[in-house]
Amino acid sequence: MNLVLMGLPGAGKGTQAAEIVDKYGIPHISTGDMFRAAIKEGTELGLKAKSFMDAGNLVPDDVTIGIVKARLRKDDCQSGFLLDGFPRTVAQAEALENILSDMDRSIDFVLNIDVDKEQLMERLTGRRICKQCGATYHAIFNPPENDGVCDKCGGELYQREDDNEETVKTRLEVNIEQSKPLLTFYDQKGYLRNIDGNQGIKKVFIDIDQLLGGLK
Ligand code: ADP
Ligand code: ADP
Ligand code: ZN
Repeated sequence: MNLVLMGLPGAGKGTQAAEIVDKYGIPHISTGDMFRAAIKEGTELGLKAKSFMDAGNLVPDDVTIGIVKARLRKDDCQSGFLLDGFPRTVAQAEALENILSDMDRSIDFVLNIDVDKEQLMERLTGRRICKQCGATYHAIFNPPENDGVCDKCGGELYQREDDNEETVKTRLEVNIEQSKPLLTFYDQKGYLRNIDGNQGIKKVFIDIDQLLGGLK
């Protein structure tokens, strides 16, 4: 199954992606994670991406499209993929259509996790992430068993630098504007499926699972 995950920052994309990957065995491809990993490793890609990311801007389309294209051609994507954080622009969405059609494939669904704006600030400022495995927690809504320690791997939990109130405000505003033309693009293609993300983590997955069950 070939999936794209959409939703504003804090909507629960990473959280649901982990469940989808677990159940359906397709790779989770997050451009944000790929850029952060490249920065950490100090690669050329990381150097290119860092200045844009630090300024809160999008990494240029040619760079971003290039890494996604290379990633989708890897063997583990043969049974499908779950894109998260890509596409972010209509140009990227159009490029994705071409990349896939060259591979004789196409998107099955674009899952849009829809959450009220007021909820998102609370979710993002309380988010905690495992340094070691990337698992996502929430100080109140999804706390680990032991404070500051990952349930899955015992790693240390940290807070993303851009998960503070001020930066979140800007990220939300920018994202709302950016996502509008994309949602229209995918609605017109007939791929778009809205998921009610205001529900608890488990219930949101039940809804997604029900939709994906129809694809098997
Ligand atoms: P956010 O929660 O802010 O959406 P992400 O982890 O998805 O965080 O992305 C972090 C940063 O990586 C973005 O602010 C942007 O600079 C860059 N980035 C991620 N995906 C893309 C993309 N598809 N196109 C351009 N830049 C991207
Ligand atoms: P995204 O990847 O869309 O930015 P995350 O999956 O990182 O979002 O979730 C943002 C924060 O909200 C995390 O702290 C996560 O534990 C929490 N969260 C995710 N889904 C829900 C939900 N349905 N209800 C309450 N909190 C949630
Ligand atoms: Zn962990």
